[in-house]
Amino acid sequence: MAAKTRVVIVGGGVLGTMHAVEARRRGFEVVQLEREPEARGASVRNFGLVWVSGRKAGPELSLALRARELWSELGAKVPGLGFRAAGSLTLASSDTELSLLKEAADLPDAQRRGFELLDAAGVRAVNPALRGEFAGGLHCRLDAIVEPRQVLPALRGYLASDGYEWLPGREVTEIVPNAVRDHTGTWHQCDLVILCPGAAHTGIAGRYLAKSGGVRRVRLQMMQTAPLDARVTTALADGDSLRYYPAFDLPGRAALPPQPPAAERARAQLLLVQRADGGLTIGDTHEYAEPFTFDLDEDAYDHLRGRAEALLGVPLPRIQRRWAGVYSEVEPAAAQRALYHRAEVEPGAVLVTGPGGRGMTCSPAIAEETFRC
Ligand SMILES: Cc1cc2nc3c(=O)[nH]c(=O)nc-3n(C[C@H](O)[C@H](O)[C@H](O)COP(=O)(O)OP(=O)(O)OC[C@H]3O[C@@H](n4cnc5c(N)ncnc54)[C@H](O)[C@@H]3O)c2cc1C
Repeated sequence: MAAKTRVVIVGGGVLGTMHAVEARRRGFEVVQLEREPEARGASVRNFGLVWVSGRKAGPELSLALRARELWSELGAKVPGLGFRAAGSLTLASSDTELSLLKEAADLPDAQRRGFELLDAAGVRAVNPALRGEFAGGLHCRLDAIVEPRQVLPALRGYLASDGYEWLPGREVTEIVPNAVRDHTGTWHQCDLVILCPGAAHTGIAGRYLAKSGGVRRVRLQMMQTAPLDARVTTALADGDSLRYYPAFDLPGRAALPPQPPAAERARAQLLLVQRADGGLTIGDTHEYAEPFTFDLDEDAYDHLRGRAEALLGVPLPRIQRRWAGVYSEVEPAAAQRALYHRAEVEPGAVLVTGPGGRGMTCSPAIAEETFRC
């Protein structure tokens, strides 16, 4: 691609914005269109976890590790991301969970992930806010945290220059060779179009995704507390996360007892991150069948609140916010072949979506791969 290449990016979420960062790094002119006045999809509804620990060995781990490097570099340049190399603790509440964590800590790639198995006293030494009951934990030094509600504006501020234009409130409705048209009828000329529509599986991406298949949508429930009067030094996950993350697909997983019914129904796992203002972002649940419920299920929240309080050993501050979010992910059958969906849908137009629950983590490395292809 020549130095004067002009790239139109459709979608103002983290994937679109990381593609804008990568395109500007290569000296290309960028116009980024977002249909909403501000992006309000999965990229601002997530935990802000840059999560290496649970990744499957092989390409998935390599992609996450490369992304972790890129986040760290960006974090140094863009303080507004709130990047912190806080690490994480995955906590075992029983000996069965602890032996599975031990298996993970003994894996050949444990060092690449920064894994260390800790007993309960070791866990408290790393994270003194944990005053509840647990048998031990797996410390992952490489996991990191960003502030999801700040990331997109912070990156756009970093990009603000002659070569970058942000156009919110413009829905792209048509693509032709070397141009896209937005809903106001305005054409945007370019050499390359990158479509990052997130979980919008209809609209502009709809006809391509309908043809190719291979992606689905997943809905999650989340909540956030008022500030906690203690510093939670690491991100936290409970033993239920061992059921969902591929890194823990080890022989000991079969010995895990069933989840409590409310957790099983909601496919819940506890993930907890302290925000820069002291509040705790807590989740999550997983709903796969559409049409998704439009209301929030309180049983799942009761379960997650109970888990968080059991580990922290204190009552949670008042819940200030609850929300649901939807992400796009490659179907489990296609996930054997690809970690996310990328396809040249028209000459000079590339569609990138479907990174699933690892999209915030992997976004900078995915953008890098797009421009290498
Ligand atoms: C609750 C929740 C928690 C999560 N936690 C984490 C986490 O901690 N770590 C992690 O790695 N991942 C996490 N994820 C996954 C991650 O958030 C997503 O994979 C990622 O944000 C996807 O980014 P995106 O840019 O593809 O999508 P989005 O953020 O949905 O952005 C797509 C944007 O495109 C816009 N758009 C669509 N169509 C058009 C059009 N025609 N014209 C113009 N604009 C258009 C939309 O309005 C939207 O703003 C989580 C997801 C959810 C829902």
